Amino acid sequence: MLTPFTSLNKPIGELLGSFFCCNCVLCGTSLRQNFALCEFCRNELPKIESYCTKCCSEVESQSLQNTICVKCLRNPPAFRHCRALFRYQPPINSLLRAYKFGEGFAEGRILSLLLAREFQQHYATSKIPDILIPVPLHRNRLRQRGFNQAVEIARTISGLCNIPVSLNQVIKNRDTAPQSELSKAARYRNLRNAFALNSRSGFKSVESAAIIDDIVTTTTTVSSLAGLLRAAGIQSIDVGYLPARLL
Ligand SMILES: [Zn+2]
Ligand SMILES: [Zn+2]
Repeated sequence: MLTPFTSLNKPIGELLGSFFCCNCVLCGTSLRQNFALCEFCRNELPKIESYCTKCCSEVESQSLQNTICVKCLRNPPAFRHCRALFRYQPPINSLLRAYKFGEGFAEGRILSLLLAREFQQHYATSKIPDILIPVPLHRNRLRQRGFNQAVEIARTISGLCNIPVSLNQVIKNRDTAPQSELSKAARYRNLRNAFALNSRSGFKSVESAAIIDDIVTTTTTVSSLAGLLRAAGIQSIDVGYLPARLL
């Protein structure tokens, strides 16, 4: 049985057992594991190596420790850390599109497990969040797509890291335009009062939370959500994304 933080140095395929065979979703190599990405393709993914430890925008720095960008120094965000693993470029963009719009669940599982492993490593030496909060979709969007990819990612992290997922406490009460299509000023207006809590007492005993989403255009969406959660009494909020496309 898997317990959190016991297998941090093992490859993901080994972590999940080697009793299934599958093919790598990128190069087609046959694999003796149930994680459909070979070691070679995984090492080629466009990882963000040098980033602001607050908002995860890429920075030019030799030091990976405690780098905070000018924007976060001037205007600290409502969340403590944000972590995006990859740039939104090939093959990450096609993996994510296959998952989001084409029911590519093998691709979704790969992306989710990569983030789950990052979570395990990040919290190996610090307090793990009390709860995971996937960014909610409006009910119209949910009906169209059939599933919320942020919820599925959160479920994978929950399974590996043993953290409960909050599914109903936060709702999106307006069907907003995609953030990527808007100007900076319009993004703030677009999300004003877009999220709401089902009840104010739902997070009564929660001290720390991690917001989960699949992609970041800017941090406007999670800043808005983090502000709401802070107002509900959650003191410490981290954010985990998969790929990043910070503007
Ligand atoms: Zn491969
Ligand atoms: Zn920053």
